[in-house]
Amino acid sequence: MLEEEKTPSIKVSQNPSFVVAVLRIGHRLVRDDRTTTHAVLVSRAFGCERIYMTDVDDEIKDTLNKVNKRWGGEKEFKLEIIDNWKQIIKDWKQNNGIVVHLTMYGALINEKISQIRALNQNILVIIGAEKVPKEVYFLSDYNIAIGSQPHSEIAALAVFLDRIFEGNQFKRKLTNESVKIIPSERGKNVIKKK
Ligand code: SAM
Repeated sequence: MLEEEKTPSIKVSQNPSFVVAVLRIGHRLVRDDRTTTHAVLVSRAFGCERIYMTDVDDEIKDTLNKVNKRWGGEKEFKLEIIDNWKQIIKDWKQNNGIVVHLTMYGALINEKISQIRALNQNILVIIGAEKVPKEVYFLSDYNIAIGSQPHSEIAALAVFLDRIFEGNQFKRKLTNESVKIIPSERGKNVIKKK
């Protein structure tokens, strides 16, 4: 075994006491169902407690319900379809949370992540399905770039969540699943629970 394999490179610190939710604004005119689903799945699998989405069909709720039923998480992860994203931001701030908007124009994540973690406050992460309204830049406490090149809101979200949770998101248990994966180096090991 290589030395790096024995010692994980991700520093594992105590679970943070803050919660993270995602606000995804917009939906591209060209149907964007796969990226919508991926935004939900990444938020769920990377430790968030909820995602708020604008401009999406109700069908996405069925998709999430199926995933939660099979793999767990009905209690731990929620999806809300909303109209008024400004109200979500306002309420979040009123409840003493901070708002982090992910954009390629923002300050570099490497320079800001320690500061954001140290605040130990609940975080609302905003991602755009397309260009977001200018106001988002001013309503947010932080505009953060995951590198200064355009890529994808799903990639940006995954990197941000991994940095904020420092790898601990994968220790979270999602409950009431009907099947469970037993991690194994080769092949599939899945047990049926119900
Ligand atoms: N004009 C965009 C921007 O501000 O990042 C790119 C639009 S991209 C189609 C959709 C979303 O992907 C953006 O709203 C942003 O949340 C995310 N995104 C893309 N590249 C990013 C990057 N380098 N850093 C952070 N977020 C990024």
